[in-house]
Amino acid sequence: MKRLVLLLSFIVGFTGSTALAADCVSKAEMSEIASHFTQFRNLANKDFCFDGSQTSNLIATIMFMRKTAFEADMPKSSDELFSGRFSQSWYNYFIGRIDDLDVQSSCPKGVGAYVYGFGNTMYICPMMLTDAFSALDRASVFMHEARHIDGYPHTTCSRGARKGLQGACDVRISDGGSYAVTVETYAQLAKYATDLHPALKAYSLASAVTYADEAFETPARVDRQDELLLMSNTKGFFSLDVTKSNRVETLGSTPALGHIVSRAQHLILFPEDKNLPAEYLFTKNEGKISQAAGEAAIEYNSQTPAQRAELVDLHIGAQWMAKVYADKVKFTCDPRAATVNELPMNGAKAVGILYVNGYDRTSRLNYLMADDGNVYEFGCTESFRPFLRASSMKLDKNFKRIHKVGNIVVGLTYDGHLFQIDGPKTTAIQTAIDGQIYEIAPRQSYGFFNSAN
Ligand SMILES: [Zn+2]
Repeated sequence: MKRLVLLLSFIVGFTGSTALAADCVSKAEMSEIASHFTQFRNLANKDFCFDGSQTSNLIATIMFMRKTAFEADMPKSSDELFSGRFSQSWYNYFIGRIDDLDVQSSCPKGVGAYVYGFGNTMYICPMMLTDAFSALDRASVFMHEARHIDGYPHTTCSRGARKGLQGACDVRISDGGSYAVTVETYAQLAKYATDLHPALKAYSLASAVTYADEAFETPARVDRQDELLLMSNTKGFFSLDVTKSNRVETLGSTPALGHIVSRAQHLILFPEDKNLPAEYLFTKNEGKISQAAGEAAIEYNSQTPAQRAELVDLHIGAQWMAKVYADKVKFTCDPRAATVNELPMNGAKAVGILYVNGYDRTSRLNYLMADDGNVYEFGCTESFRPFLRASSMKLDKNFKRIHKVGNIVVGLTYDGHLFQIDGPKTTAIQTAIDGQIYEIAPRQSYGFFNSAN
């Protein structure tokens, strides 16, 4: 039986980025690697320099497992993000189980790598060896696959974000199966890596929580708090805590003004300046990562500024995606196929998605605001059928955004003010930056990553 890792193809996103500071691997390192992976023996007698090839990306991943440095002391989390049981030498763990890396010529959508219930070969899909994918993500996938050699097959998810997807869930994180390894490797990188780029650490944090939330029948326990991210007209980021008298805390600054789209726990910035590409966004001045932020961002970045300007908004669910344009919505409803369906706005003009029930990756329905103040419903059914129809919902203002923070629904108006929304009634929320709020997005903070050690 084939045991694979279901990647978050549009389910989450891939990182690619520089694996190592140096561009070459020493002859001594290459000899060590080839002593285990004999497929590289013809490369053992010289330095190896990265060139973007599949072999290069395999070796970069092996080097990432061999060389990433962590703090000496890595206490476990008080929740279920990090037990530390896979925290010892990743490379030794890996080579204890895998001795052959077999690159495939093609794989089904969403599959990154797999092993069988026998043998010590890991099969790797070509998509994962492109530069759209980082050594960091590959290392997490390789560790995940190695865990399958110990047993631990997946099940089909019966609930949650991956409901119905075959082999996309483990029962619970405490069983220590392959998805537990995925969560723990990302959590370890985010919390304890000592010389990893801050943006890659922030990316790892979001990946750890996403898998913790989505890859288990019983979601992993994650100590977290809902907040609202505010972007100001002057490019500042702030965190609003609606449970603490709307206290505003300064974070970092944004590289550009723009629209923030959530992709699970990741944030993607679509800049107002259409000459700029869409990219992963980090809110505490962590900097950037080089890879594209998933399929929709790759498509967007391949377009002209005029084409980019046509995209009004974007919803990235766990199993479906919708691109909102002024006059239509384009749906990708089937997570296993590239089929795109288009439904017209029939004369109304769409201006943005309203997350009245919060950004929920499992939800099959969202709301849309039109410029005449009417609200529409859109989504994909469980049988992959798209829908777009008028909603009976009434709002007393035209909102630019609506998000839910805990139990509180918050709307942003075009003049930069926040309102709490209770059905048709709205109440102003006073903050320190009233009238200067350009964009809002959901944000969470986590006990484990915020703790001091
Ligand atoms: Zn797997």
